[in-house]
Amino acid sequence: MHSDIQEVLYSEEVIQQKVRELGTAISRDYDGRNPLVICVLKGAFIFMADLSKNITIPIELDFMAVSSYGNSTRSSGEVKIIKDLDASVEGRDVLIVEDIIDSGLTLSYLIDVLERRNALSVNVVALFDKPGRRTADLNADYTGFIIPDAFVVGYGLDYAERYRNLPYVGVLKPEVYSS
Ligand code: 5GP
Ligand code: MG
Ligand code: MG
Repeated sequence: MHSDIQEVLYSEEVIQQKVRELGTAISRDYDGRNPLVICVLKGAFIFMADLSKNITIPIELDFMAVSSYGNSTRSSGEVKIIKDLDASVEGRDVLIVEDIIDSGLTLSYLIDVLERRNALSVNVVALFDKPGRRTADLNADYTGFIIPDAFVVGYGLDYAERYRNLPYVGVLKPEVYSS
């Protein structure tokens, strides 16, 4: 275990099992369609890679980068598109792949953008959800784990751009934030 990690909340095995289940559910629900699966960078990059390998129907992948947090642990409420999609979503079934839903501000902004671009449908798969901190009125269509109000890192999730490469998800030691 990384020496900055205080506790592992979700092991690699537990995450991989959940990602397989999500892939199975999505493959079943979208059978006969050809959804555009959108990774919200950077946090969802590992989830997107693992999830897409567990989707057994034809899909197309695209990537979008938004910023809401900077280096802090709280949402600013302001969302900015840093990198837009390559593909048009007009008339497409769109599935947004998110790492974690906290306030929900990032996602409600994204959903709004994609609906205004005339996507046929917009659904969300989030690996983690912190419903206790929601300020926007929104829920994921597919959720991996409901988690308590703690700041987690690993499996794509960062603190100050670090720890994204950890294969598990955990909480940092308090001294990491103060150093
Ligand atoms: P929201 O807009 O829902 O408040 O949060 C959006 C983004 O903030 C998430 O997609 C994620 O990138 C980041 N975020 C929210 N909670 C956490 C957390 O516990 N840990 C980390 N590393 N990032 C988080
Ligand atoms: Mg995210
Ligand atoms: Mg971040």
